[in-house]
Amino acid sequence: MGNKHQPEIVICQDSKYAADCVAKQFALAIKEKPEIVLGLATGGTPVAVYEKLVCWNQTGEVCFKACKTFNLDEYVGLEPEHEQSYRYFMQDNLFNHVNVKKENTYVPSGIAEDLNQACVHYESEIHAAGGIDLQLLGIGENGHIAFNEPGSDPSGRTSVVNLTENTIKANSRFFESIDDVPTTAVTLGIGTILEADRIILMATGKNKAEAVSRALTGEPALDSPASYLMTRNNVIFVLDSDAAEQLPESLLQSATRVP
Ligand code: PGA
Repeated sequence: MGNKHQPEIVICQDSKYAADCVAKQFALAIKEKPEIVLGLATGGTPVAVYEKLVCWNQTGEVCFKACKTFNLDEYVGLEPEHEQSYRYFMQDNLFNHVNVKKENTYVPSGIAEDLNQACVHYESEIHAAGGIDLQLLGIGENGHIAFNEPGSDPSGRTSVVNLTENTIKANSRFFESIDDVPTTAVTLGIGTILEADRIILMATGKNKAEAVSRALTGEPALDSPASYLMTRNNVIFVLDSDAAEQLPESLLQSATRVP
């Protein structure tokens, strides 16, 4: 897996500053390249980022008219209209409120008859769009990126995967009962994610501190899917102070602080 790179680390005072910081990077990238291809994430972490982008779209500061977007993952078995599907999440938190063209928003299908073929097709759609220019990532408490759980192939492509108990439990907060959480999902592979031109990993909260510290220290290895981000350049970790609290002194000192 080649040389180790040190990602840029930005430590924000709190999660609001972190969202503001990430949203600004997205706004700037869209201004610089209006026909940008964005890689988008779901979950609790990016909600405040999307709120900012919606706001700036409505004030005319950010224009999504020429953008394409590709989401990281989707639960298997959930219809796009299901309130916990990631397509629904994206419509509700971003797409319904900005001037992106619906046909330019891609979310993997969790209900295709042939899911494996749909995964191959999703990869070809990313390729046809010219690849992802800027990818937003969250991180799981177990170090997963998208739904690539510990042990995932670092060169893996988009595929159907099993979710770990830890992830099912963490995501059960969005469902009525833990039994309603799907146990499989379609996810971009780590190999696919690593091909994005630039990657911003955002993490907030003490429950992410250990996973963040593991990702940024030691060698890239299977126990921490996020640690493979160190095998390439152009990666930024935007953290709040809680998520940064287990970083070693050397990384804390070299980090950029906001504000
Ligand atoms: P969260 O999920 O933003 O809901 O914490 C992040 C992730 O699991 O990748």
